[in-house]
Amino acid sequence: MSTFTNDETTTKHTPVYLGQSNSSKVSYHYNPEVTEFHYGPHHPMKPFRLMLTDQLVISYKLYEVMDLYTPTRASENQMSRFHDESYIEFLKRTTPQMMAKMDNKVLQQFNIGDDCPIFDGIYDYSAIYTGASLDATRKLISGQSDIAINWSGGLHHAKKFEPSGFCYINDIVLSIIDLLTVHPRVMYIDIDLHHGDGVQEAFYTSDRVMTVSFHKFNGEFFPGTGNIDETGIGKGKNYAINVPLKDGIDDESYVRLFKSIMEPLISKFQPTVIVQQCGADSLGFDRLGCFNLNIKAHGECVKYIKSFGLPMLVLGGGGYTPRNVSRLWCYETSICNDLMLDDKIPNNIPGYEWFYPDYNLHPQLEGRIDNKNTKKYLENLKSEILEQVRFLDYAPSVQMEKIPDMSLNEDEEKIIKELNEDNETTNIFTNDRLMQQTKDDARSGELFT
Ligand SMILES: [Zn+2]
Repeated sequence: MSTFTNDETTTKHTPVYLGQSNSSKVSYHYNPEVTEFHYGPHHPMKPFRLMLTDQLVISYKLYEVMDLYTPTRASENQMSRFHDESYIEFLKRTTPQMMAKMDNKVLQQFNIGDDCPIFDGIYDYSAIYTGASLDATRKLISGQSDIAINWSGGLHHAKKFEPSGFCYINDIVLSIIDLLTVHPRVMYIDIDLHHGDGVQEAFYTSDRVMTVSFHKFNGEFFPGTGNIDETGIGKGKNYAINVPLKDGIDDESYVRLFKSIMEPLISKFQPTVIVQQCGADSLGFDRLGCFNLNIKAHGECVKYIKSFGLPMLVLGGGGYTPRNVSRLWCYETSICNDLMLDDKIPNNIPGYEWFYPDYNLHPQLEGRIDNKNTKKYLENLKSEILEQVRFLDYAPSVQMEKIPDMSLNEDEEKIIKELNEDNETTNIFTNDRLMQQTKDDARSGELFT
């Protein structure tokens, strides 16, 4: 970038960002305590990635242009607006020591295992990241923020009765429930590598929340759901949108598809607020990933949604190569603020060595995996989805004093149960672990955590 000077002698006085912060009020919600927890030494989910993200955000001086908040923990009462109380109680009381003595049946009942282990402080960890999403939501509701960011949130797989895919409490569902108290229509957009199943399921019967998920799908890949024919039921029919993709999708086709689907969806549904889950495992070279996206392409999706000028809750999600997760989320923080960052990572960052060897915000991440998405396949996907939204004649209006009814009738419960049973055998960690050796071989020389 020619407008930046990067010679060593002037580095200290060189601006690390360019541009004028926009008129949007942006808030950044981060409790550093969230990085003190560990899923386990071999578990791919590293809360440490959030520390690295924060360090980048600080070293690029983005704190100068945003409101920074250290959020409070979510209360049990808040979590129980979606989750079952017995499950919350289980998370609160269970320790790794107790787990070792526990009956397998109980562990199975609460889906505890390789993907979702019980680790020290699990409840506290969940309360911290959930509290950050709920605080961010409050800022949007009060109008104090136009865009509120919580990179520790976005845990889209958690279910009412159990954890799933590294997610314990579903901060997204809880935030949307809060948004529905003042917003007639909420749009949820998920660009994580995996299907946003927990959020889809929670609002599967609602016409007030449109869920849109772009993800890898082949029927086996975790969580197993997210085919194009999952469109919602009852009043929610056609308000769930799924974009199932194959391995290796590249920048150009992803961004083109994303825009060509999101534009008509937003104009049809007319959301009054948008929640975007920015899972970073859709980047190329992700430890559990299989797409070819670069940081700029992923960020382009955030930039595009921001261009509609609606209030936005911006959340993290998956992402298992910490140095790329942090680069992405720092870059997306700059997008929310309409700023351009110097590609060269400031050398005063404490974790500078993590960005070896290029020390660049935009490493080259494409080309590791063949793109199995043909033009024809993507064209068909787009047509089928646009056909689905043709049925949406108008955006539903609601009486705002009505508290959203989250309960399902018997038939709806049954359908969702069947959907889950079909996919019971899939597992985000063990499925991927089978392929790990192959992937590791393909990336020898890469840094691992
Ligand atoms: Zn994911």
